Amino acid sequence: MKLVLAHQDELQRRLATLRETPISPENDPWDPYATVGLADKPLLTSIEVTVTNLCNLRCEHCAVGDVLTDTEQRAFPLDDLMARLDEVDTLVTFSVTGGEPAASQRLVDEVTRPLLQYAKARGLRTQVNTNLTLPLERYESFIDLVDVLHVSYNYPEPAEFARIAYAYSDRVPKDPTALLRRMERNIRELSAAGRFVSAETILTRATLPRIEEIHARIAELGCRRHEIHPLYPSDFAARMSVPALEEYADGVRRLLATRNPEVWILFGTFPFFACSPDPTHRQLLAHVLAQPNTTVRNDPDGRNRLNVSSLTGDVLVADFASLGPVGNIGREGFQAIWERWLASQTAARIHCHCPAARCLGPNIIVAETYFPGVDWHAREAAMGAGRGLVRPT
Ligand code: SF4
Repeated sequence: MKLVLAHQDELQRRLATLRETPISPENDPWDPYATVGLADKPLLTSIEVTVTNLCNLRCEHCAVGDVLTDTEQRAFPLDDLMARLDEVDTLVTFSVTGGEPAASQRLVDEVTRPLLQYAKARGLRTQVNTNLTLPLERYESFIDLVDVLHVSYNYPEPAEFARIAYAYSDRVPKDPTALLRRMERNIRELSAAGRFVSAETILTRATLPRIEEIHARIAELGCRRHEIHPLYPSDFAARMSVPALEEYADGVRRLLATRNPEVWILFGTFPFFACSPDPTHRQLLAHVLAQPNTTVRNDPDGRNRLNVSSLTGDVLVADFASLGPVGNIGREGFQAIWERWLASQTAARIHCHCPAARCLGPNIIVAETYFPGVDWHAREAAMGAGRGLVRPT
């Protein structure tokens, strides 16, 4: 790959700096903007591994719900996956997702922990996406290898956990809030021990009216970061009604008006853009960017990251099952799959770039849900980005 700013040594030095700098609102190594300009094409700096399709919950907003199973076959050798990862010398971050990556102690011992050990041996920044509802010892057995523990949290009160978490379960336990209590105990203990717990809330018609209460609970539990994402209408989540952008914007304003300033708020796949023809959208983005301890992350999916199933070797652009695989590492390496994806019509459609706004374009599902038919390449940012640089129009 031809480098724009740097030759290979300089590139590796810049990537090493990204890996080594502490994670903060100023240094989010998952944001694809962190490596913009280092090469003439987007670099593959992040791999997310789906370690299982087993999960003890069946949440209503689950974007991989249709592929969850009760038993599973592991058809792809872990050594072959690691050999493919070895070939990617541009990696900075590494994520583990599911299902629930701690669904069983055996899964932890045979897959989750070995992969995290591999990633840490390479000096990568690591994240585990978990519901954190299982016994604490299971998480403690790999927590030293984790930089960010990413937890779903959408519950203003216990009854909402019972409704959301078992929405597609065959069986609801006698005490349907017991796992919420354990999750909250786990969050408290891990946070008190200095672990970086990042709680994610999906903005739905159920969470939006009570986002302030949800944020207050997350802060009180000791989470260091609160991630806010739109509903991704994939799998189970596709059966939910998607909030209008105005409802979303109202929830964001209420959250920012009452938020705990100690908690970093990260907006992922934020559906309000600097190029929006609607001035209220640009004003909301400017308002968000002007808040301390608040960031808007460019979407990693397909911009610096691929997802791979450790069960099959299938590679996806995102872990959302409905998008379908773009390759398989049994047949070819990540880099070949990455370059084919970048050359695809889908990538071309949504991969715009406005340097003034530090924006790399919309998430694919956000674009299809909220902006069907928009020609992103015909648009241009009408405002700048970054605290101190914002120029709302
Ligand atoms: S990069 Fe794309 S989405 Fe972002 S402001 Fe520019 S045209 Fe809009």
